[in-house]
Amino acid sequence: MSLRVACAYRTVSTGVAAVIAGMIPIDLKIEERNRIRAYRLEGEETEEARARARAETLQKWQERWERDPKGQWTHKLIQNVRGWVNRKEGETEYETTQFLTGHGNFGTYLHRIGKKPNDLCLYCEARDSPEHTMFECDRWTRERQEINAILGTVGTPENLIELITIDGKKWKRTMEKVKMIMKIKEQDYRAIETIERN
Ligand SMILES: [Zn+2]
Repeated sequence: MSLRVACAYRTVSTGVAAVIAGMIPIDLKIEERNRIRAYRLEGEETEEARARARAETLQKWQERWERDPKGQWTHKLIQNVRGWVNRKEGETEYETTQFLTGHGNFGTYLHRIGKKPNDLCLYCEARDSPEHTMFECDRWTRERQEINAILGTVGTPENLIELITIDGKKWKRTMEKVKMIMKIKEQDYRAIETIERN
């Protein structure tokens, strides 16, 4: 279900999909419910018990996320589960989820699933990882400058998500650029497939 919420490819691990979708893993949710009950039995107000239990859940989820061996790229982007999950604005969509998971129109991914004979970039022949597309490739220099102008600083895989989760306007404008890049890449991949077929 979290896979569908995050609009993710089926190859994305459940742990990564859950974080992207912001859906608390079911075992943590059950533990949380039990703790709320226990705190109320100890005499805490419901709201107070809920807030305390949720803070603990997010802490446990953070620890689990840090140990999760899957989705290294997503880990680089989303370091703080609480900040990500509690953001007030910021929907994930088909293209932005490709960027967040690395599962999508990237040479590294297409090569890994056997759709491309190599992992090279369409535009510059470097290894086309999501990091290459968004932060390095010369094809997107202008878009990157626009994103940096929105962010008010040089965006990196380590700071980008934090900067946009605390500011809904920055999220929207940055993700529009990300979506545009991913859409153009998709068109270009399709065009190449058509040429290769004929
Ligand atoms: Zn490139």
